[in-house]
Amino acid sequence: MEDMNIVIVGHVDHGKSTVVGRLLADTDSLPEGRLEQVRETCKRNAKPFEYAFLLDALKDEQAQGITIDAARCFFKTRLRNYMIIDAPGHVEFLKNMVTGASRAEAALLVIDAAEGIRENTRRHGYLLSMLGIRQVAVLVNKMDLVAYDRLRFEKTVQEYADFLKRIGIIPSAYIPTSGMEGDNIARHSANTPWFTGRTVLEELDHFQSSKPPVSQPFRMPVQGVYKFTRKGDNRRIIAGTIESGRLQAGEEVVFYPSGKTSRVRTLEGFNRETPQCLEAGWAAGFTLEEQIYVKRGDLVCKAGEPRPRVTSRVKVNLFWLGKEPLVPKKEYVLKLGTAKMGFRIEEIVRVLDAATLQAGKRDWVARHEVAECILKLKKAIAFDQAWELAQTGRFVIVDRYEIAGGGIVDEALEEQPAPL
Ligand code: GDP
Repeated sequence: MEDMNIVIVGHVDHGKSTVVGRLLADTDSLPEGRLEQVRETCKRNAKPFEYAFLLDALKDEQAQGITIDAARCFFKTRLRNYMIIDAPGHVEFLKNMVTGASRAEAALLVIDAAEGIRENTRRHGYLLSMLGIRQVAVLVNKMDLVAYDRLRFEKTVQEYADFLKRIGIIPSAYIPTSGMEGDNIARHSANTPWFTGRTVLEELDHFQSSKPPVSQPFRMPVQGVYKFTRKGDNRRIIAGTIESGRLQAGEEVVFYPSGKTSRVRTLEGFNRETPQCLEAGWAAGFTLEEQIYVKRGDLVCKAGEPRPRVTSRVKVNLFWLGKEPLVPKKEYVLKLGTAKMGFRIEEIVRVLDAATLQAGKRDWVARHEVAECILKLKKAIAFDQAWELAQTGRFVIVDRYEIAGGGIVDEALEEQPAPL
């Protein structure tokens, strides 16, 4: 069966966890007896049962396993295996999308029908658009609190559709839901006879799955280089996750930014059998014919395919989340693929409020603002322009060990600004 990753976003308390809890319960995806157990605990503590508690209980359990990220849940339909990524805030969302730890192909965006659209509802919409997630279903949730009022639903839809259109998102559906009561989540609800669209579950199955980009040029950011001995033969394995394209033994690879080349000797699938071919989406490795110096942060490409960009000046579109404003004088760290590089802002071209979409010119960028900037890196790195190859054109910004922003590369610029 096919796998699909979905991210769920929305303003805090608008009902994300409740919706996910419902999806798990109504698709029988919970461990045996878990629902009853959580109900029982609630009763004992004289608390009303909440699907969100169910999710918390599951998260605690998963967090104890080493391999499972606490913010992921799994469920199945007849069509697919879903992984739903709960992104409680902007930072988690950016991190997931940029590092590739759990990248989403589609999104559910939750709005509280009673409270209406909040700033974060808009900001999350903006982030989806910036990161290229165009398959979005909007859930107008907590419909039980507004007596399943059709006009209320339509007003929210209208207002949000206007905003999303301005940032290039046309949702596949707007669904009136109640996570708490289960309306239109996995079952059509009798409370909304005026709604003839699909349930959330049906909508998920209607999303198109995007296959890993195997037909794009080969790109593998080097995660590490490991010494390895097999039958007295000393080798070094170049390891990483393949972002796009495919690679076979005997092919010539180029390492950027250095431009060094070598031929691939063997492919290594780690826990799998020796593969015939490495493909986008795999964590894998290979050995080389020649012993050339390769390090973490390099970008491996294939000779004869479109090259990546290599430069120390880039024009980017970034989303700032730092507590302190982003300013030109300070040094920050850019993480793109596995590369890490110090940089300063050369110019802030334009600043935009992600919630109101109002733009202006300023020499700092405040939290939750979006900015078009020119960055000057300490040394050249290899990447792609996001509109050419999204996977290797996204980055996060680190300020004092914390993720303080992220974005996409719009344009590779010349090392020196062109003379006037
Ligand atoms: P999150 O922060 O977006 O994950 O929101 P939660 O799922 O934790 O929900 C926040 C609060 O809203 C909880 O007290 C839920 O019980 C409540 N809630 C969530 N969905 C609904 C709903 O459909 N109807 C009602 N009445 N309350 C809901």
